Amino acid sequence: PPSGADFDPARLAGQPIPTRGGDVLTPFVDYATYCEHGGYTLAREVMAGTRDREAVLAALESAGLRGLGGAGFPAGRKWRIVAAQPAPRYLAVNIDEGEPGTFKDRTFLERDPHRFLEGVLVAAAVVGIERVVIYLRDEYHGCRALLGAELGKLQRYAGFALPAIELRRGAGAYICGEESAMLESIEGKRGEPRLRPPYIAEVGLFGRPTLEHNFETLYWVRDIVERGPDWFAGFGRHGRKGLRSFSVSGRVAEPGVKLAPAGITLNELIDEYCGGMADGGTLYAFLPGGASGGILPASLADVPLDFDTLQPYGAFIGSAAIVVLDEGDRARDAALNAMRFFAAESCGQCTPCRVGTQKAAWLMEDEVWDRATLDDLADVMVDASICGLGQAAPNPLRHVLRYFPHEVGAAQEGAS
Ligand code: SF4
Repeated sequence: PPSGADFDPARLAGQPIPTRGGDVLTPFVDYATYCEHGGYTLAREVMAGTRDREAVLAALESAGLRGLGGAGFPAGRKWRIVAAQPAPRYLAVNIDEGEPGTFKDRTFLERDPHRFLEGVLVAAAVVGIERVVIYLRDEYHGCRALLGAELGKLQRYAGFALPAIELRRGAGAYICGEESAMLESIEGKRGEPRLRPPYIAEVGLFGRPTLEHNFETLYWVRDIVERGPDWFAGFGRHGRKGLRSFSVSGRVAEPGVKLAPAGITLNELIDEYCGGMADGGTLYAFLPGGASGGILPASLADVPLDFDTLQPYGAFIGSAAIVVLDEGDRARDAALNAMRFFAAESCGQCTPCRVGTQKAAWLMEDEVWDRATLDDLADVMVDASICGLGQAAPNPLRHVLRYFPHEVGAAQEGAS
C-alpha cells in the first residue's frame, strides 16, 4: 500500500515539489480546514457568475490538463464539447481505480477530498451540469465513509446552491472503469461497454449528454485556476508539461504515490523519488501503465514517461501505475498474470476478447511460446474487440515476444 509519505496535500504552496520520501505525512484536510484555507471560494464565484467561466476553461486548456484516468483526453476540450450539448447535462466521476498497480486516487481522496469536490462544482458550473454521480470502487470502504461524510458537510454548510450529487458504489468489476460500462452500471445494468458512436458526451448517462472524468483530473482544477496554468505546466521535464501522480510498486526501496513532473524517466523516478531499487537489485523490466500499458525492458528506462511518449514502443502510461521488476523476476510471469486477469475481467460481450484472453493465457503457460499463433490471436483481439480491455490485453504478451524473446524460447522478432 502507498505510504503517502511523499505526498503533500497542503501541496506545493510555493514549495518545490517533493523529491523523495521523508516529507511529513500531512494530516487529513476536513471541510472546516479546507474552507479556512480559501476552499470553495472559487466554486462559489464560478457558480455565482462573478468569475468568468471562459477564463476557467482557458486556464485548463493552457495548463494542458488531460484526463488522468488513463485516456489523456484534453479536459478543457471535453468541457466545451459537453457544454455545447442540450441540457440537462450530467457529470459522472470515475473513482473505480481498478487498473492493477494504481492507487493514486485513493491516496488523494483519503487526504484532501474537498479539493476534488471543489473541482466537481467548478466543472458543474462551467459546463452547466445539474446532476453529478460519483462512482466509487467497492473495495474502498474507508473512502466511501469518508467521502460520504465530507460530502454531507458540504451539502449542509456550503451556503450556495449545489447540483444534485450522488455517491454510487461499484461492485468490484474492472470493466466498470471503462466509461460507458460505468454508466451502464450506474443505470443498474450489467457493466458492459457501449458501442460508439454515439459518444457519451452526446448520449451518456440515462441518455443525457455526460461529462465523464477521473477523480484526479477534477482534483487539479482549483489549483490550476487559482495558481495559474503556468504553475501546473511549468513542472514538466524533457519537454513535457504538468505533474503526474505515479503509483510506484514492485522492487523499489520506497514504493508509493510519487507526485513528479510529467516526462520524468523511470531511472530518474527510481533514483530521485523511490530511494533506488530495493535490496540492491538491478532494474530488469517495468510496467509503465498497470496491466494494460505493456512491459518494457530496462534499456527503455530513459524514455520520458507521459502520454504519447511510449507509443513508439507499443506501450502507454495510462493511469501512471509503474510496476518495477528486478533481475529475479521474469517478464513472462508478469505477462501471464496480466492475461489471466484480463480473462477473468472480460465482460464477455465480444468473442475476440472473451475467448482470446482465455486462449492466450493457456498458450502463455507453455514453456516455449507459439509465436505465430499468439501473434495471430493478438491481431484479432486488437482489431475486433469492442473496448480498450480487449484491445490492450495483448500488450504484455507482445512485449515479451518483442523485448524478452529469450524467456519464451522464441526467435527474435523479424528473424526467420
Ligand atoms: Fe467486454 Fe472485452 Fe469486448 Fe470490452 S473487449 S466489450 S471487456 S468482451
